[in-house]
Amino acid sequence: MKVLVIGGGGREHAIVWKLAQSRHVDKIYCAPGNAGIAEIAECIDIGMNDFDELINLVRYEWIDLTIVGPEDPLSRGIADAFEKEGRKILAPVKAAVQLEASKVFSKEFMRRHRIPTAEYKVFASYLHAEDYVRMKGAPIVIKAEGLAAGKGVVVAATTDEAVAALKRIMKEREFGDAGNRVIVEECLQGEEASFMAFTDGRTIVPMVSSQDHKRVFDDDKGPNTGGMGAYSPAPVITGELETLVMEKVMQPTIYGLREEGIKYKGVLYAGLMIKDGNPWVLEFNCRLGDPETQPVLARLDSDLVDVAMAISDERLSDIKVEWKKDAAVCVVLTSGGYPGKYEKGKVISGLDTAAGLGDVLLFHAGTEFSGGDVVTNAGRVLGVTATGRNIKAAQEQAYKAVGQIYFEGVHYRKDIANRALKADNI
Ligand code: AMP
Repeated sequence: MKVLVIGGGGREHAIVWKLAQSRHVDKIYCAPGNAGIAEIAECIDIGMNDFDELINLVRYEWIDLTIVGPEDPLSRGIADAFEKEGRKILAPVKAAVQLEASKVFSKEFMRRHRIPTAEYKVFASYLHAEDYVRMKGAPIVIKAEGLAAGKGVVVAATTDEAVAALKRIMKEREFGDAGNRVIVEECLQGEEASFMAFTDGRTIVPMVSSQDHKRVFDDDKGPNTGGMGAYSPAPVITGELETLVMEKVMQPTIYGLREEGIKYKGVLYAGLMIKDGNPWVLEFNCRLGDPETQPVLARLDSDLVDVAMAISDERLSDIKVEWKKDAAVCVVLTSGGYPGKYEKGKVISGLDTAAGLGDVLLFHAGTEFSGGDVVTNAGRVLGVTATGRNIKAAQEQAYKAVGQIYFEGVHYRKDIANRALKADNI
């Protein structure tokens, strides 16, 4: 069969890599893809929000299944557009994606279904929001309502910082309409964890646990990024906690959506804060996380097409999703200056040597071909991923591979997965 993957980052490279091993797949297309993906898939230059062109591609190339990576096409209703044309797609419908695209919808939904989340209030008026922040005091969290590329959340340590964030979002309109309303939220303390599951709207199958690192510098310093690395398993998610997350978060979410007439098919991701052994939801994503996908798919033993087809046909309960025992660690290499300003077009060397090391997977994120070279073309450039018998072995191998790769200005964290090594249950 033929499969189309939409997106062009590290997550999509990992999806394409996994699909390439499927016994069902003859050909993979990727729109738009990147230099690494181009080695195993045909990259097509169609924008990921150009649904008409994508559907035409699927029709003319006889593509059987489409898998979507990024949030933007999901929140614009790519699943609805494909399903209307009778095309199979692994993506939730627009009504379901509100869980991610509208923080107000998501908070109100959680309140309706008693899903544990921080106390909050929604404001459309700057003055009311400011009064409330001054009354509550710090620490306090300010969130723009809509999608702001991960930058619309401020965890304010002081009231002044919170008020400054309100001004930027509501008065200066830093994120445009995404800041029409803000959520002012209680600040939760604890350890963060990610939880991802496959679901066909009826059956929910948790993936192996994983955790990302969001801050740009070691020891979780510096600004938030799209993700500087990730590892799997994450010791913070114990078996007991997994049961709690399923009962208190995943099941009430999927069944709650059903009660409201929305069938959720695809991947549901919950960003959690673990406080005194209990999960609290910080946010939902309606897709695989990036970079968590890289170590998680590296551990998936089952054929991804079997899983995708079972979701699409609503028979996920019929299959068993199997995982490898190995651990996996992904270290993200970024352009110097990211997440602020950075230069593109830097020649990347050492890719072949790194890829030649055992148990190493080089997932490209922001790369392209230029002349005969592979060059950088985004903030996050590569997700160097390695597997090993435990986190320590995977981490060592990942950093060995990282040491082979160079481009001008390259930056990466030196402490990816250290958090897991500190835990006592691995
Ligand atoms: P979100 O996009 O809602 O996940 O927020 C991004 C990041 O902000 C999270 O990963 C947390 O680190 C932090 N955050 C969000 N909400 C809260 C909260 N209520 N309490 C503490 N930290 C939070």
